[in-house]
Amino acid sequence: MIIVMKPKFSEDNLGNVIKTIEGLGLTAHLSRGENTTLIGVVGDKRKLLEKNPELLPDVDRIIQVSETYKLANKKFKTEPTVIDVDGVKIGGDNFVIMAGPCAVESHDQLIATAEAAKAGGAQILRGGAYKPRTSPYSFQGLEVEGLKYMAEAREATGLKIITEVTSEHALEAAVNYVDIIQIGARNMQNFELLKEAGRINKPVMLKRGLAATIDEWLNAAEYIMSEGNEDVILCERGIRTFETSTRNTLDISAVPVLRSKTHLPIIVDPSHASGVRAYISPLSKAAVAVGADGLMIEVHPCPEKALSDGAQSLNAEDFKALTDELRPFIELAGRKF
Ligand code: PEP
Ligand code: MN
Repeated sequence: MIIVMKPKFSEDNLGNVIKTIEGLGLTAHLSRGENTTLIGVVGDKRKLLEKNPELLPDVDRIIQVSETYKLANKKFKTEPTVIDVDGVKIGGDNFVIMAGPCAVESHDQLIATAEAAKAGGAQILRGGAYKPRTSPYSFQGLEVEGLKYMAEAREATGLKIITEVTSEHALEAAVNYVDIIQIGARNMQNFELLKEAGRINKPVMLKRGLAATIDEWLNAAEYIMSEGNEDVILCERGIRTFETSTRNTLDISAVPVLRSKTHLPIIVDPSHASGVRAYISPLSKAAVAVGADGLMIEVHPCPEKALSDGAQSLNAEDFKALTDELRPFIELAGRKF
């Protein structure tokens, strides 16, 4: 339920509404927009309805939210969420590029990739230390050693760092090293992991599940937010369809659909969506055009030798060429890069 305040409300009356909500054991989420101030109510709203909240002083009206996700819902918060990662803004006017290897493979490989990412204008370095691989015999990641290399790369380049966690154990380790935690497609509905990620105080990027609907995805985001962590970034990384020319099918329409349903920032990952290096550039342009807040791109100093996802990885030169090519499109979309 949402309580919308009158355009000219007094702070005392606003405080009184919040006190009434909290007094009933419910949670009040205040959202002050430019024109509208509203309070999202989470919990068993029947108790509040019995008190006729529309009659409280300075309350304009009550809106019932039919969706099961509340905190992620645009109706709860009309202004777009901008997440500030130590000076790097995700959302709003900014366009952010996260780049790096699929997996952290060695110290030298990561430092070389971090330098390439930085040279191409990326603000955030990605790198998997815990890899969710289809086969148990494939490279599984360097785990804590990989996290240490990530932290070293941040020192060396000033880039912020993001890494995926595949378990609560990995989350416990990674949270000490990185700036943003990534929850991958395969774990989008690992509800225990989502709840645990909701209890940390770092932003979480939640990738769309391989066969998840947008509503399931937003409910997964709600799991994180309802535990107290509202800094959630959504990442569209392609979904399973009947098409086999690409690894997945980039659901480009997810970006405007999400925009209509949520205030959370949206990143597009054309690397995992397509699985094909040659399609990264056109899909990146499409992402910019539909209003994504940024991109996640796989980069490797020598993609032919990559231990995972070489076919979709760009080398340093190709990554630089990509960002040079994208810059005018990003400006045209009214974003800063
Ligand atoms: C990744 O980003 O390294 C990854 C495994 O992606 P996804 O979860 O989208 O498959
Ligand atoms: Mn990958």
